[in-house]
Amino acid sequence: MVHNFKNDITVDWCPGCGDFGILTSVIQALTELDMDPKSVVSVSGIGCSGKTPHYLNIAGVHTLHGRAIPYATGVKLANPDLKVLVMGGDGDLLGIGAGHFVAEGRRNTGLTVILFDNAVYGLTKGQAAPTMEMGEKTKSLTRANIFGKINPLTLALSAGYSFVARGFSFDMKQLKEIIKTAINHEGSALIDVLQPCPTYNNINTMEWYRKRVYKLEDDKSWDPVIASPDDPEAQAKFERAYRKSLEWGDRIPTGIFYDNRTIPPFTKRLNEFVPNYLEVPPAKQRILDAEGY
Ligand code: SF4
Repeated sequence: MVHNFKNDITVDWCPGCGDFGILTSVIQALTELDMDPKSVVSVSGIGCSGKTPHYLNIAGVHTLHGRAIPYATGVKLANPDLKVLVMGGDGDLLGIGAGHFVAEGRRNTGLTVILFDNAVYGLTKGQAAPTMEMGEKTKSLTRANIFGKINPLTLALSAGYSFVARGFSFDMKQLKEIIKTAINHEGSALIDVLQPCPTYNNINTMEWYRKRVYKLEDDKSWDPVIASPDDPEAQAKFERAYRKSLEWGDRIPTGIFYDNRTIPPFTKRLNEFVPNYLEVPPAKQRILDAEGY
């Protein structure tokens, strides 16, 4: 029987919020992958995005502000067989959680990090968040933003994420496919999702994005995949992804920028120091015993 990944809890995001598109895309991805609901866990921090695990019919944890990645890392290390989805906003993951965001890239633990990117702290009335342009003044600010902006893709590539992509919450068809590929990726994946917050951000609206986004995959020569360590194009593909990640303004690329399948995930590297770690992780066995499997 096909599992219903949406539970019956009422979703209380504001009308028109991009979060709906992300939630739907995650549910469609899990459904189309026909995933065993016991094989996937969602972890969130604080923010409007933090509510996402409440709406998914899988195990989930709503943790502390900025701490979704370290919590999810513990889940993954306790049971490397699990697929672990991290849901966080740009304030959560790139503000207070920025150090953890970078550490995840360096480790390549294998988390699927879904960044709800709306440039504001929506849950606390629309303060400027780390992806807001300097000089931008949304209706929720009393004066223009005086902070510099973080580019999540460039940061992820620099930190070592082996899968880096960008989606748009109102293009669920593309976003669902990106999420499916990211879940199947062994290493750490970042999906930056452009997500309008109509309640507080009246600049980066759905219409604003619709005029600008285009798909990398429409260029048939675009190939982000590095499947072999001997790929002679590997360095060129990384540099091309990096240059593309800098494109912003009248045209904003979406799709998979970088997909390097050759970097061993952290759990495999750990296996070299902890004999049989991947075969019978002690924590995993304790959990299975406690659950009566
Ligand atoms: Fe969505 Fe913004 Fe409302 Fe939060 S405040 S639910 S991000 S529209």
